[in-house]
Amino acid sequence: VHDSLVAAWKDRVAKNPDATALRYFDGALSAREVDSATDALAAAFEARGTGRGDRVGVYLQNVPQYALVMLALWKLGATVLGLNPMYRRQELRRIVDDAGAVGVVCADTDVEETLGTLAGSTVRWLVSTSALDYQCRDDARVFATTDRPAPAPDGDLVALVEEFAGRRPSPVRPTRDDLAFLTYTSGTTGPPKGAMNTHGNVLGVVATCAEWTGLTDGDVVFAMAPLFHITGAVVNATLSLLTDTTLVLTGRFHPEVALEAFAAHGVTFTIGSITAYNAIHELPHAGPEHFASVKALYSGGAPIPPATVERFRERFGVYLHNGYGMTETTSAVIAVPAGRRAPVHPPSGTLSVGMPLPGLTARVVDLHGRPVPPGEQGELELSGPQVVPGYWENPEATERTMPGGRLRTGDVAVIDEEGWVYLVDRLKDQINVSGYKVWPREVEDALYEHPSVLEAAVIGEPDEYRGEVVVAYVSLKTGADATRDELIAFSRDRLAAYKCPRRIHFVADLPKTQSGKIRRAELRGTGPASPS
Ligand code: ATP
Ligand code: MG
Repeated sequence: VHDSLVAAWKDRVAKNPDATALRYFDGALSAREVDSATDALAAAFEARGTGRGDRVGVYLQNVPQYALVMLALWKLGATVLGLNPMYRRQELRRIVDDAGAVGVVCADTDVEETLGTLAGSTVRWLVSTSALDYQCRDDARVFATTDRPAPAPDGDLVALVEEFAGRRPSPVRPTRDDLAFLTYTSGTTGPPKGAMNTHGNVLGVVATCAEWTGLTDGDVVFAMAPLFHITGAVVNATLSLLTDTTLVLTGRFHPEVALEAFAAHGVTFTIGSITAYNAIHELPHAGPEHFASVKALYSGGAPIPPATVERFRERFGVYLHNGYGMTETTSAVIAVPAGRRAPVHPPSGTLSVGMPLPGLTARVVDLHGRPVPPGEQGELELSGPQVVPGYWENPEATERTMPGGRLRTGDVAVIDEEGWVYLVDRLKDQINVSGYKVWPREVEDALYEHPSVLEAAVIGEPDEYRGEVVVAYVSLKTGADATRDELIAFSRDRLAAYKCPRRIHFVADLPKTQSGKIRRAELRGTGPASPS
């Protein structure tokens, strides 16, 4: 058992220093090279006045430098503050101010705007790095390194690694209680809150996920989920960094590039959002050959319709394992063990999200916090080493959401006799039609069975007679069509009449968070607008 992520990283390096730790586009770094580069980078950050307990923003896509900055900050006992690279001015500033970040690493293409946004904030230094991204032009992938703008005032990250080569930061030993990440929640239901993910939390998740996903030495992990989100940060990046495996990074998510990465790098494992898998499934040239090396694929963070899992398996021969987690649980804490199949909940047809990972206590409780018998519905309550000690500088929210260390998830769930967990829906999203309760998930799952439906989101809209009515927002697959009446009739065949959508709106795209979650609240007009 390690007492910090740094100790775990050191062990990995010692075990097999020449193994490839990072791979990107056509470059690669061994574990030893990553270790010395991150020593140098830590020394450079220290020279800029950064040390233990400081928060540093990482405002980057999934580039290899992201992983280097993570390790460098941990070596200082500092905290990684993941910043969604889609965020622009106020969105960025709000989180940086809330976290009191002392430094930021951004893409060189964002330097000018970031400097303007951060003027007068707590941020004392800005370092930039090549935006490193593929640009998809027609069939060709152009690796964009040309036209590099000038670096940020405090330097270019790669130049700093060279300048500080051979140096090390002053020795610090982070403990299990130091913050490895400060991660803001997705903002699906309200403004994002900062969850304090400690070294101990992350170590807990990494150990259990490595075991349940069957990860072994030499595996190739593709960073498909965004690294600023807890799932990408922990179950893709940290999991790979702390085991004798290779982490593949290909910049911002493009379905074409992701598909190529699977085949070109011999990817064996990843976790991503169902949106990402859907986008890959949409590619006409995608085939089973792209997934030949895959051992286990996971989808997490949002509901996965059984029909989508089935489509993916039929076409590519790979099964999407479900995984459940929250920013507050430091990502995946309930998952389908690799090689097992998620059972379907008989009454609702919902796929199980899996079983609680070792160490996690999952209970289903009633309104008064009392456990309900197996098979009955209630709020999911979680406790264990993966659950964060609280929200950043927000004791009220901490006390409300995780009184006594027991996390009220806001999710409604059922746990069966065997321990499989079924997620019904978010407590806040329940629809009330003339007193009948409708869970939007169930209606969405039915719509997903229609071959033309790409994505669906269901909400309640106020209605004079019924209180609320069920309304669906649907996007169709490219080239496919379906009429409103057809979709309503289709759901009538599958659902009780009161659950069927009264109205269907066709949209090109559904509003989503960057972690791939559909924002029902935005469709209702009650939630925060999506960043763009
Ligand atoms: P906010 O808390 O800011 O409103 P959020 O809850 O979406 O946003 P995250 O911490 O990223 O922020 O997401 C956790 C939530 O995602 C869970 O509470 C649950 O509702 C949902 N979720 C996660 N995994 C799954 C899954 N496999 N199936 C269904 N829902 C999931
Ligand atoms: Mg939440």
